[in-house]
Amino acid sequence: MADDVHEEQARPGRRGLLAAGAAGALGAMVVGAGTARAEGTARAEGAAAPATPQDRTITLTGKLATGAPDFVHLPFDVPSGVRELAVSYRYDRPTVPPGTPGNSCDIGLFDERGTELGGRGFRGWSGGFRTEFTVSREQATPGYLPGPVRPGRWNIVLGPYQVAPQGLEYRVDVTLRFGAPGGEFTPAYPPERARGRGRAWYRGDCHLHTVHSDGRREPAEVAAGARAAGLDFIVSTDHNTSSAHGVWGPLAGPDLLILPGEEVTTRNGHWLALGLRPGEFVDWRYRSRDEALPRFARQVKRQGGLVVPAHPFCPYVACQWKFGYEDADAVEVWNGPWTYDDESAVDGWDAQLAVALRDGRSWLPAIGNSDAHSAPQVIGSPHTVVLAEDLSRDDVLDGLRAGRSWLAESAAVRLEFTATGHGRQAGIGEELAVPADAPVDVRLDVSGVPNGTVRFLTDEGQLHQELLPADGAGTVVWRTTASLAAFVRAEVRHPRADGTPGRGNAMGPDLPWGPMAALTNPIVLRARA
Ligand SMILES: [Zn+2]
Ligand SMILES: [Zn+2]
Repeated sequence: MADDVHEEQARPGRRGLLAAGAAGALGAMVVGAGTARAEGTARAEGAAAPATPQDRTITLTGKLATGAPDFVHLPFDVPSGVRELAVSYRYDRPTVPPGTPGNSCDIGLFDERGTELGGRGFRGWSGGFRTEFTVSREQATPGYLPGPVRPGRWNIVLGPYQVAPQGLEYRVDVTLRFGAPGGEFTPAYPPERARGRGRAWYRGDCHLHTVHSDGRREPAEVAAGARAAGLDFIVSTDHNTSSAHGVWGPLAGPDLLILPGEEVTTRNGHWLALGLRPGEFVDWRYRSRDEALPRFARQVKRQGGLVVPAHPFCPYVACQWKFGYEDADAVEVWNGPWTYDDESAVDGWDAQLAVALRDGRSWLPAIGNSDAHSAPQVIGSPHTVVLAEDLSRDDVLDGLRAGRSWLAESAAVRLEFTATGHGRQAGIGEELAVPADAPVDVRLDVSGVPNGTVRFLTDEGQLHQELLPADGAGTVVWRTTASLAAFVRAEVRHPRADGTPGRGNAMGPDLPWGPMAALTNPIVLRARA
């Protein structure tokens, strides 16, 4: 906790010190504050108006021990007349034994409206990505929300997500810059509709980062990347902040729908809040044990948005999903380039399908997203292809919620998947109700996966496997019945690293399959009398 809070009047040269500290990466911020203060020179700027108080810096220091709270709030008082807050912070990085996490500390800001969970005081978050930021009425560093700098008790929030055995010593400098407030910031939110093709399949990436959290891409680069990838829509999901929502307006267009969202980044896993009201923020300060997720899931669902646990088996600290799936509308089973944790996610998702169908509950749809942050990560690899009534916010979210969707590694992959029996046909995410023993023909038309392997899977596991030719296009048909299969879904896999196809229904020390190229949500087969 904060064990030492003191305020000091800014001396001449204080701004110079902050600017110098700001120039370096965190690890390089070794300028001794005491030394720099002693060496301070005259103010570089012109003299302030006589009635304007001098800028001054509040310094918040302390040491956090192992076992510190997930979020530490450091209060400080903002008097009236402040034009801008400029915050910088740093913390020590002692050497730790091999295999032990070193210090790592996130930062964010709450204003005079308070720090209450889900309250109105949120003013921004930059995680561990930035060592300094500013907030004023007319502008803010990406991740933070421009707006009035009202007098009252504000809070820095620290998120010490890794603390070395020696503890974590931090120092936060909050400089109050006085003066007349700047103009009002006017957010430019994207429209909720683009020029669609009516009821059609639309391609979208629902998990993307920008400089508004820990990505290095400007929003304009993300929009350009989405267009280059052949996407029809994207969702903006920066970590723990809504600050990007207000910049997408001019980047959307008739050809690209952009939806506001957030990657709610907790200490027990990350979830995507998709289709938020523009400017809306979803709190992240809880773990599974706090039983707060249902409240924030309701916040998102009330506005028609979706709750989607992200990369549920990602091995990074605090990235595995520990909240269960009762509040989920879908699950992200494929996140970025295909890796082991995606195999686990698909297996875990598949295992829940039959349970949901047995209980008469709606089954959980799968989605896939790139989670691209920076080059060379590829926007749209993978993405989700959804059947929507039109290219609008509500239609796209409805399609995703219904599971009328499949996952593709790129727009080069195309497929169609149907089940036909007893004179009826159903597509992905739909249900085919047929007599229990009526023949059902399952058909996949696919292209764009050279030498790929098609797998058909049911609640019994893989029941059919077939190789695609070198040109990557083919049709695979297989017959089953509703009595044999509660559902059927398809995967298309690339060859393994050694060039061989995968081996279904086999055990062994090798990876059984090459990377995923496409994966469908299930078609449900229901036996009717
Ligand atoms: Zn994440
Ligand atoms: Zn992410």
